[in-house]
Amino acid sequence: MKQKRFFLSEDEIPRRWYNIQADMPNKPLPMLDPVTREPVTVESLSKIFALECCRQELNLTDRWIDIPDEVREMYKYYRSTPLVRAYGLEKALDTPAHIYFKNESVSPVGSHKLNSALAQAWYCKQEGVTNVTTETGAGQWGTALAYSARLFGMDSAVYQVKVSYEQKPYRRNMMQVFGAQVTPSPSMSTRAGKNILTVNPNHQGSLGTAISEAIELALNTPEKCKYTLGSTMSHVSLHQTVIGLEAEKQMEAAGEYPDTIIACFGGGSNFSGIAFPFMRHTILEGKKTEYLAVEPSSCPKLTRGEFRYDFGDEAGYTPLIPMYTLGHKFIPANIHAGGLRYHGAGGVVSQLLKDGYIKGVDIDQLDSFKAGVEFAKAEGIIPAPESCHAIAATVKEALKCRESGESKVILFNLTGHGLMDMSSYDQYLSGNLINIPAGDKEIKKYLEIE
Ligand SMILES: *Cc1c(COP(=O)(O)O)cnc(C)c1O
Repeated sequence: MKQKRFFLSEDEIPRRWYNIQADMPNKPLPMLDPVTREPVTVESLSKIFALECCRQELNLTDRWIDIPDEVREMYKYYRSTPLVRAYGLEKALDTPAHIYFKNESVSPVGSHKLNSALAQAWYCKQEGVTNVTTETGAGQWGTALAYSARLFGMDSAVYQVKVSYEQKPYRRNMMQVFGAQVTPSPSMSTRAGKNILTVNPNHQGSLGTAISEAIELALNTPEKCKYTLGSTMSHVSLHQTVIGLEAEKQMEAAGEYPDTIIACFGGGSNFSGIAFPFMRHTILEGKKTEYLAVEPSSCPKLTRGEFRYDFGDEAGYTPLIPMYTLGHKFIPANIHAGGLRYHGAGGVVSQLLKDGYIKGVDIDQLDSFKAGVEFAKAEGIIPAPESCHAIAATVKEALKCRESGESKVILFNLTGHGLMDMSSYDQYLSGNLINIPAGDKEIKKYLEIE
């Protein structure tokens, strides 16, 4: 029988993260302070984030960053995550392609987000922080952060995008189980939230609004409270490279090397996590691998956005980031992949996209769920609506191989399970979901707002 799953021993769990900033042919443009418009420094950034995260954020020289022992000990509870050969899906698609997926859904909280939450919480704890704040969409990041804060003895306050707060009540409950205080965003508890609601009382929230509120809370609670972010920033991508570093060893054990690597894309952290360790061979040795970043057609910053400086949040509290963006006031349609409803892409990924290393792909909501259901039938795992986007792109690539007869090796990242997203599946199965691609006029309108 052929081997289906590939694991590493505890000893083989990576000891260092990979910092692609050291190897990029063109470094990302500097982020700018939102007030002075000068390049940010470790000091200015550390008003918001843990100091060590700020050092990592601006580290353009060290290729490898040590994973703290305490974080690596926690990784041992669920890492390595399995690399799985998707024989079932290959058979269902009748494709000669070899499909592999990295299963991050086995983390205790159900997604890849824990890889960075543990690290950020640990650094906060080290620096004497007692309270952490953050945003969350579908609730995956909030859950990971709430659990990590609890683990290291800190309190957490999470602003959850209002539409997701209502769509996914059980994720809110998960955060509450771990002791988090959860507030739907926009809320009346911050100035940013009040301003947003004054202009638009029916605002359904976006990751941009929730980030503003969480940062405001951190800034108003100096010293002991820090903000943590679940995606976009390069230190978050750095922590996620544990995924790709493991996958590299596991693919070696499988005796193959990926031709195509596919991941869904919200702010870019899981994409970076699985892709960057392989991309170092593309940058340094010219290895020919295709990297597909998959976004919803409702929020198409990679395929239809503009590369320019923009804020990471609605109110303009974050640094100005050189990013592919739809404009920081863009309100994505209420699709069920809450983790992908974000207007911008991180600075590092944006530069790599601009330099031609990455290809953006957009997927309609119905195609994503169709692929998710197909995958579930073939492999027994119900994927998160976000992950369904990577699966839909994988299915497309595998069907191209059926046409051409090529047996390409495809690796995709299964970021999370969808067991807390069954109300979304319910709507899909009962025919109540529609495609909501962003319109040209709408994109133009929001890009014109400075
Ligand atoms: C947050 C999330 C994503 C998207 O975020 P990235 O930072 O782009 O990886 C994808 N899948 C799941 C399950 C998530 O929770």
